[in-house]
Amino acid sequence: MNPFIIRKLLYPLYRKIKRDRVLAYLDEMHRIERLEPEEIRQFQWEKLKRLLAYAATHVPYYRQVFRRIGAEPGDFKSLDDFEAFPVLRKRDIKANKEDLISETYPRKWLQEDSTGGSTGENLYFYVDRSSSEARRANNIRMNEWIGIRIGDRTALLWGTRFDVEKSKQIKNALRNWFSNTLLLSAYRMDESSVDEYLQKLSRFKPDLMVGYPSALSHFSRAMLERGYKPLKPKAVLVSGETLYEWQREVIEQAFGAPVYNHYGCREFGALARECEAREGLHIAAERALLQVEHVTDSATGESLTELLVTDLDNYGMPFIRYAIEDLGTIRWDRCKCGLGLPRLESTIGRTFDVVKAPNGNYLGGTFWTILLRKVKGIDRFQVIQEEVDSITIAFIASGEFTDEARKYVIEKVREACGPRMKVRFELKPELELTPTAKHRFVISKIGLEGSTGEADTHRNE
Ligand SMILES: [Zn+2]
Repeated sequence: MNPFIIRKLLYPLYRKIKRDRVLAYLDEMHRIERLEPEEIRQFQWEKLKRLLAYAATHVPYYRQVFRRIGAEPGDFKSLDDFEAFPVLRKRDIKANKEDLISETYPRKWLQEDSTGGSTGENLYFYVDRSSSEARRANNIRMNEWIGIRIGDRTALLWGTRFDVEKSKQIKNALRNWFSNTLLLSAYRMDESSVDEYLQKLSRFKPDLMVGYPSALSHFSRAMLERGYKPLKPKAVLVSGETLYEWQREVIEQAFGAPVYNHYGCREFGALARECEAREGLHIAAERALLQVEHVTDSATGESLTELLVTDLDNYGMPFIRYAIEDLGTIRWDRCKCGLGLPRLESTIGRTFDVVKAPNGNYLGGTFWTILLRKVKGIDRFQVIQEEVDSITIAFIASGEFTDEARKYVIEKVREACGPRMKVRFELKPELELTPTAKHRFVISKIGLEGSTGEADTHRNE
């Protein structure tokens, strides 16, 4: 479909019919993102004050937190004061899920979602309507940073859910058609699907190519080996895993387009993205307040900074100083691209190893979380690859892990890795997780060609 028609006609009309605030949020973001850093901090502080006052009154969990620390929202007079506010951990959410939900927010406006998280541990939570509208606006705005506009053709080499019902498949196909989107599963990338994908992409001619660094670099190599001409989209966006410099290079070479790094998660949606300057990832500071907390790695004694996220829009289930279990640093100086938004640097989140399958497929962390997240009987897990054709799934049980569940996992793994892949299960009482090791829930002991490069989130340093 013509991008111009989508952008100027269909999209605004669609938003009008939905009667939502997406375009209003977008206007606000356009206004805030170019302000001086001090003004942006002031904007965050005003939003935070409202959220704290609301949470203290209407959210049982936070009523209790304020009582416990003997404080009232008004006692926090600045963002610096707020650094003394307790951290919200995943275990707190698991233990207090219902108490974290607002008593006054209309329940029908809450949408349940879940994440496998980087520790391979399931977490269920709710996102409210205004928050999901702000997320949509934020995605549009971040795309603008890299030259992509509403209606531009987007191809995704992405994790697709397993066992999607037929009715949903049709709905998704329709939505993809209306939004100029082509979805290719990153989990089926054997020799024949690579050829099929290449043909589809050449026909589709994407403006934006999106994918995991592992899948896209694997795909890029195949393109180069087969002598495919670069597709030359306007931009390539990578997300979901740490981006290595060698991956950026091979993807840029194969696609003939700049690669931009993106950081997001299911709990908050898009949090940060590189602009054209590619010197750190700009944080969506209007939506989320990111702070750091100093921690010491118990294994190495190394001093690290852990990221804490406060969602400034989600009143339905407020996440205040949530430990997202990623590491990083934040800088507030103005970027040469003109944005006043702070930048995230040296993120060490999502440093997944990748399973290299006998059929040539590469399966990063997201494959395993999407597959194992909903399998009954598995709580936390670790996937260890010791040989090319065998993996061990070590896990902590929650309830009974049935033969049926076991067969299901093996079947799905073999669909993605080929029939030669052997799968062993190992029930463990505990999985050892240090601050850095907790991100490594996929451990490859066979090595991955070219994967020894430094983790790269800001290429010019
Ligand atoms: Zn910038």
